[in-house]
Amino acid sequence: MRPELSQLPTAQDLSEQILHHLTHTQGRGPEFATVFDWRLAVSYTIRDLIVTPWMAGHRASRDRKLKRVYYLSMEFLIGRILGDAIINLGLDAQMDQALATLGLDRTEILEDEPDAALGNGGLGRLAACFMESLSSLGVPAFGYGIRYEHGLFRQRFEGGQQVEAPEDWLNQPHPWEFVRVDYSYTVGFKGHVETVDGKSVWRPGESVIARAYDTPVIGWEGNWANTLRLWGAQPTNLFDLHRFNAGDYAAAAEPEALARTLSRVLYPDDTTESGKELRLKQEYFLTSAALQDIIRRFVAEHGEDLAHLPDKVAIQLNDTHPAIAGPELIRILMDEHGFGFTEALGLARRTLNYTNHTLLPEALERWSTWLMGHVLPRHLQIIEMIDAEHRATTGRPAHVSILQHDQVLMGELAFIMAGKVNGVSALHTDLVRSTVFSDLHKLHPDRIVNETNGVTPRRWLRMANPPLAKLLDQSIGTGWTGDLDQLKGLEAHADDPAFLHALRAAKRLNKVALSNGLLAGLGIKADPDAIFDVQVKRMHEYKRQLLNTLEAIALWHRIHESPNGDWTPRLKIFGGKAAPGYWMAKSIIHLINDVAATINKDPVTAPYLQIAYPPNYNVSMAEHLIPAADLSEQISTAGKEASGTGNMKFTMNGALTIGTLDGANVEIREQVGPENFFLFGLTAAEAAAEKAKPGHARAAIEKSEDMKIALQLIAEGRFGRAEHYFSLLDRTWNDDPFLVASDFASYFACQRKVDAAYRDARDWDRMAALNIARSGFFSSDRTIRGYMADIWKVEAVTL
Ligand SMILES: *Cc1c(COP(=O)(O)O)cnc(C)c1O
Repeated sequence: MRPELSQLPTAQDLSEQILHHLTHTQGRGPEFATVFDWRLAVSYTIRDLIVTPWMAGHRASRDRKLKRVYYLSMEFLIGRILGDAIINLGLDAQMDQALATLGLDRTEILEDEPDAALGNGGLGRLAACFMESLSSLGVPAFGYGIRYEHGLFRQRFEGGQQVEAPEDWLNQPHPWEFVRVDYSYTVGFKGHVETVDGKSVWRPGESVIARAYDTPVIGWEGNWANTLRLWGAQPTNLFDLHRFNAGDYAAAAEPEALARTLSRVLYPDDTTESGKELRLKQEYFLTSAALQDIIRRFVAEHGEDLAHLPDKVAIQLNDTHPAIAGPELIRILMDEHGFGFTEALGLARRTLNYTNHTLLPEALERWSTWLMGHVLPRHLQIIEMIDAEHRATTGRPAHVSILQHDQVLMGELAFIMAGKVNGVSALHTDLVRSTVFSDLHKLHPDRIVNETNGVTPRRWLRMANPPLAKLLDQSIGTGWTGDLDQLKGLEAHADDPAFLHALRAAKRLNKVALSNGLLAGLGIKADPDAIFDVQVKRMHEYKRQLLNTLEAIALWHRIHESPNGDWTPRLKIFGGKAAPGYWMAKSIIHLINDVAATINKDPVTAPYLQIAYPPNYNVSMAEHLIPAADLSEQISTAGKEASGTGNMKFTMNGALTIGTLDGANVEIREQVGPENFFLFGLTAAEAAAEKAKPGHARAAIEKSEDMKIALQLIAEGRFGRAEHYFSLLDRTWNDDPFLVASDFASYFACQRKVDAAYRDARDWDRMAALNIARSGFFSSDRTIRGYMADIWKVEAVTL
């Protein structure tokens, strides 16, 4: 099935197809076509080429009765699709030529596509990387999510403060999806439970229809495509014709509006628990529709006997958001298929697996039993049965219960209902075992496994960084794209001056491109020979953008003190959104912008220090920033970042990391070698001990003159009005839960080591080369192979 080279379309085939779609799908002649028309015509041309392997894969999976993976996630942070699809089909060169013949600008076409921003950050981007790797490896899989009409909000800055605007990616035709009107399921809520002939029957009081929208995800080399199936909510009764005829048009449309709210918005935070009824309904909406679809497909392929479900179905729950899948699957097996409770529980547990993504207590989902009973009355009964059974079979005290203090603990539920529970980096998995789930771990010592995250090298290296990809191809061949361990071959070049020179030149191309963008977009004049120091990720106190900002202020002050010193020029780049209700994170955004405004216009320090904060960080911006970075900021409080995946993207692209021993930083440092990594700060154990000391922040600030001055300058109103920052300053002096003060001195000193290291270009480039060479472990292909072997027990298809 692999498309032979001879079968790949030529540039001429492509341009003919593009013209065909422009005329016959878009209904436009070339003389009237806009960039949008052309982009759709190009997308349809590429989509046509994906459909063939997609259908062939479906047929093969069905005919061979293969086991499938089902990845349930409330978020898929996909970004743009077109460029990735062109690369994975191996049509880069042909498409360039086709576009050139048609007189089209490739960048303009690609950048016309809106980001599919159906996620907040790392968790959603992981799901997107996994979908790509599952297809690249040829593993039969479905991703299930929600087709939010409005993805993550758009961010802009007004007076330095974040302002949110709705995102509207579906305001225009989305060429990648196929709507499946025939795959529609009813999802119920509320109502009551009746006993009929000794069996429980849930009579929902409300219902909506979940309608499937399918997007094929093509893998590397175009051999296999899996489906991302997103559910859109539809009303069960479209329209109240009586009311309409009576002239009450608004009321007539009410059922539709109500149903649609279910798939209207993405909750703009994945690190704080949200107690909203709508959020619980969204979670059940996704889960119920997915399970109905999975069971329908199982029955169609394997017959009615659901006792074999675990042999053919492996379900992965991305965080606890779809954890209602446990009780829902039991409900389906018991109430609809006549299984006894114990048997249903056993089958569900052999089918379901759960990935933990956080140790932050404020991010662990919990619902009041009242709300659970109100929205999902039958599920609450089943949760009580699961809890009782677990207590009975393990003989355990109540403190490992799912139900505690009138709350349903979704982490405990997910754990107890999972065959395997995994953490997402070695350190995080250890902490999952020793902290959040220590009691459950003792009861089930084999259940927790580690699967360190990864990212797809197709998007994050080959597509995002053409200059580096070209150099890699020339140096070690093209095989690395599908087998990232081959980057090891670069080690042989790490002392070759010609290679290092070419590596620097590739990085410089990206830096120049970014400088031009920053000048055009923000009016910032960036020197491409400065250190490009990048921190891009969600704004959160534990990620410590504040630490980076205070370092900038302290450095600025020091430069002022000796303006003729031997300073290493640096451009600090920030990017990231704060959840709209997260006041402290928004205050830090405000501070960064205020600090940037002051520093950037200071003629004394301008040659040495600039700060850029482009608004609306998203996947497409990451693709521009990461390849241009020299320094990757991974400075979270140790023990707080589960894994991080941004850190991996930077390493692959030859940025050196300044970081704490947190999340996957630990493994990055192990892989690249401690001599090629800038380590600072407390360890997770030391951080926990430090936090327990009363007055730890004040004590640390008193010890660091640089930190003290930085805080003083803010308090004096040197960066915007001081009163904007009173609570932030107060929190830093008196509470500092994320230990900015305790780590400041170590961080500041480490940054000066970075300054010194950057001056030795040869050595810096060598370190960068070794970072790239040793980043193969962080391919999501490796991660997926881990899940396949340890958790899913599935195999890739060999066609
Ligand atoms: C990779 C990525 C993230 C995750 O970054 P972390 O540094 O791991 O938090 C978040 N947002 C976007 C757009 C990304 O591409």
